[in-house]
Amino acid sequence: MQEELEGLPKKAQEKHSANKKFFSKLKKRPPKNLDYIMLELHEEEFQRTDCLDCANCCKTTGPLFTNADIERIAKHFRLKPSQFISEFLRVDEENDYVLQQVPCTFLDADNYCSIYDVRPKACREFPHTDRKKFHQISNLTLKNVAICPAAFNIVEEMKKKIKL
Ligand code: SF4
Ligand code: SF4
Repeated sequence: MQEELEGLPKKAQEKHSANKKFFSKLKKRPPKNLDYIMLELHEEEFQRTDCLDCANCCKTTGPLFTNADIERIAKHFRLKPSQFISEFLRVDEENDYVLQQVPCTFLDADNYCSIYDVRPKACREFPHTDRKKFHQISNLTLKNVAICPAAFNIVEEMKKKIKL
């Protein structure tokens, strides 16, 4: 897996232009059963890919923390939200709360999330390949294929399956 992760940014870069074209067409003419197709591709891919062998999202990027995330996680640590923010978070250029550093502080040595039950919504949903109206997050997906090997494979399968 380590080798696969090291090669992923280059592979994603090579596919970038084709992916961009594909998503631009998909946005104009999304198939009626797109949600169903995505759910199927997502489930098939995650039967093959074990996130515990990877954790690349937790190591190289981080989630946005919503206010609800901050309140829930702060409570878990018995901290006030303001204490949690000053200890772990910063505000990014888009004015969102993000981790002060990556790899994520809450990732342990075996790739387990130490706050799994209360983890941010963005972590629960990443790489968003099973979400409804997937064509609406194409810009995000174009970035995620360089981080997440599962998202990369899912987009490759989409291109084979959905003829536009
Ligand atoms: S979601 Fe993607 S990047 Fe994150 S651990 Fe799973 S396969 Fe790796
Ligand atoms: S909170 Fe957990 S799931 Fe989210 S980035 Fe950190 S270790 Fe990964």
